[in-house]
Formats: sequence, structure tokens, C-alpha cells
Amino acid sequence: MSDFVHLNLPQDFQLNSDEHWMRQALALAEQAREQGEIPIGAIAVLDEHVVGRGYNRTEALQDPTAHAEMLAITAAADAISSRRLDGVILYVTLEPCCMCAGALVLARVSRLVFGSFDPKAGACGTLYNIPQDVRLNHRLLVTGGILQEECSASLSDFFKSLRNGEIKTTRRNREEI
Ligand SMILES: [Zn+2]
Repeated sequence: MSDFVHLNLPQDFQLNSDEHWMRQALALAEQAREQGEIPIGAIAVLDEHVVGRGYNRTEALQDPTAHAEMLAITAAADAISSRRLDGVILYVTLEPCCMCAGALVLARVSRLVFGSFDPKAGACGTLYNIPQDVRLNHRLLVTGGILQEECSASLSDFFKSLRNGEIKTTRRNREEI
């Protein structure tokens, strides 16, 4: 775990709030799982109100950009009629990839909160730290590891079911087992 996670560790009241919203992101991940998608959910919150939701839909849409975060960002921009998401906090069950981390910077999201760390593709502290790269023109506060066990279990249960043939899936998901 990188230092930045500790530096931005929230106070108790914020932790409770973070867990509250992360549970809603987990519920969205469950919706993805029910549709045979890799279970990742995201929720965009502004002033304690939900302004965007998304869950992974890359298979349903056959769109490599249909990650939970991208859909939540687009929904939030639509909801507040602005491409700049100042003050928005984005909660997502898995550490964002390069694409989503880049989109968070472009959207000027204020804070990112994620659940599990992603050793294979994480771009918010694990492989890269795009949201806090000083060379870019916007930086986010980042908190990782909120409800980490639940978020990790959601993913590992999905892949276990996939291996056991309990979930009907596509070739692409199978390649990622
Ligand atoms: Zn992504």
C-alpha cells in the first residue's frame, strides 16, 4: 500500500460515509454479476446526493470502454449538465484502470474512493498513480481499501463461479480467469 493512502486516510465520520456509498457501489457490482459481467460497480456522489451510477457492461455493449467508472462519470456529467465534475466523489469497488483514471482527471473529479487494489491493472497507486501525477493539470484525493474484503470477495466469488461453470459467460471473460 502506498503512502498516499495513509496520507488521505479519512476521519471516522468520513469512513462511515465512505462505507455507506461503497455498499451502494457493491450493489451495482452485483447487478453486473447477475448479467454475467465482471462485477464492478461505481457511484458518483455530489454533496451527499447520487448524481451518477454505473456497472461494468463491456460484454453487453461489446464496448471496451464500458467500465463502471466511465458510465458513472457520463451519467454524472449528464445529471449536472457539466463536463466538469468539481466536488464529485467517485466510489468504485475496484481500483480504476489507466482509462478510467484518465477520465477522472479529465472530469476534474475531486476525490476517488476505491475498494480492492488491482495488482494487474490498477492505475491509482498500484501500477501507476495517474490521479496524483503532478505532471497532469488536475489531481484527486485518493482513498483505497474501503470495504476491501467485501469488494475482493465479490470479484473472487465471480471468477470461482466462472471456473465452476456456474455462470454462463463469453470467451473474453473466460480468458481473464
Ligand atoms: Zn477502467
